[in-house]
Amino acid sequence: GKPRVVVIGGGAGGATAARYVAKDSNGEIDVTLIEPTRSYYTCFFSNLYIGGFRTLESLAHSYAKLATDHGINVVHDWATGVDRDAKTVALAGGGRVPYDRLIISPGIDFVEGSVPGWDLSAQTVMPHAYKAGTQTALLRAQVESMPEGGTYVMIAPPNPYRCPPGPYERISMVAHVLKEKNPTAKIIIADPKDKYSKQALFEEGWQNHYGGMIERLGPDFGGGNVTVNPATMEVDIDGEIVKADVCNVIPAQKAGLICDAAGLTDGNWAPVDGHSMVSRMDENIHILGDATNQGDMPKSGYSANSQAKVAAMAVRGALTGSRVFPAKYSNTCWSLIATDDGVKVGAAYEPTEEKIASVSSFVSQTGEDAAMRKATYEESLGWYAGITSDMFG
Ligand code: FAD
Repeated sequence: GKPRVVVIGGGAGGATAARYVAKDSNGEIDVTLIEPTRSYYTCFFSNLYIGGFRTLESLAHSYAKLATDHGINVVHDWATGVDRDAKTVALAGGGRVPYDRLIISPGIDFVEGSVPGWDLSAQTVMPHAYKAGTQTALLRAQVESMPEGGTYVMIAPPNPYRCPPGPYERISMVAHVLKEKNPTAKIIIADPKDKYSKQALFEEGWQNHYGGMIERLGPDFGGGNVTVNPATMEVDIDGEIVKADVCNVIPAQKAGLICDAAGLTDGNWAPVDGHSMVSRMDENIHILGDATNQGDMPKSGYSANSQAKVAAMAVRGALTGSRVFPAKYSNTCWSLIATDDGVKVGAAYEPTEEKIASVSSFVSQTGEDAAMRKATYEESLGWYAGITSDMFG
């Protein structure tokens, strides 16, 4: 029969990989995509929904085109384990799916106990909104119903985590909403990191648009020593008790749990070889996106999409003998600070034996004029439309 490729996870990395293996192999490879949800909500642009610049529906993508246009078998179920000797994937609903090559792109899960007082059962009170959909809708609703002059607290995550500028874009979008609806409200960020992505750009933007509203407590001010109490909505920051009206806890992160179950992690992440995104622990398994430890690329949707194309090419080469070109990667992370005030940071990458290494980079500058910032925002809208059709057809 035909060679079989199974993909676990239909997000940024997995949907792209399934689509490219199927599309470029013209029916020579049998592709199965295992994904529990029927609608994938992108985390990218979910902060813009919180800020009122997008609808929730505009973030949702279905798997219909992957099935109809590319003949991919889409199985809506959880993968619960991988038998690497038998080369099968076990499904929560029972049954096993055999593969010749397996691609895994499960995104992130949270490190237990990283924020004392918080666990997954608290996410309905203190949302993370770091997986998009109902969590994002809950956080937005909480921001909109904050009492006048209330307090929004974010517990920012330690490195590495998905979307390095994501927490700070979120703060910008929350401030944008509060400035209009609740201008005496306050925002506190407790942050265990000394510095963060695009910091100078965010600080400039917050000063310009939201002066006096946002206070960030870095590790020198106890931002790394935080306990929360979801029952009372109290946050203890280095002994100082803050009563929060909204508490957005973004815990420390690790590879999606299926990577542990399959024995593919070393510590919190799954190590891969950047020439093909193949696991360093199993030559028949490629791992993509946030779950990986690959080197210099940030954990982003753009990175996952870029890595998926390299993996798809390697998998096709191995199974059908098609030509394999040297791996090259790229990434850009856009962030919206206020209406038409967009900034970006990005780089190009190539693999070495040890890691995927950055070879050139660019970043927006402080003091740029409004026309340039508007053009950057418009560029991000084009990127979103383009990359989601590259993923989902
Ligand atoms: P995901 O896209 O999370 O996909 C994982 C999929 O696997 C999910 O659909 C999940 O249901 C499925 N899955 C998990 N476990 C299993 C299992 N056991 N069996 C079957 N399926 C499973 N990136 C950008 O490029 N640009 C941005 O502007 C941007 N903004 C962001 C803003 C925020 C607030 C956040 C949180 C993230 C942002 N990102 C952005 C990051 C981006 O969303 C992630 O890096 C990207 O989604 C990673 O892709 P992935 O394939 O690794 O994981």
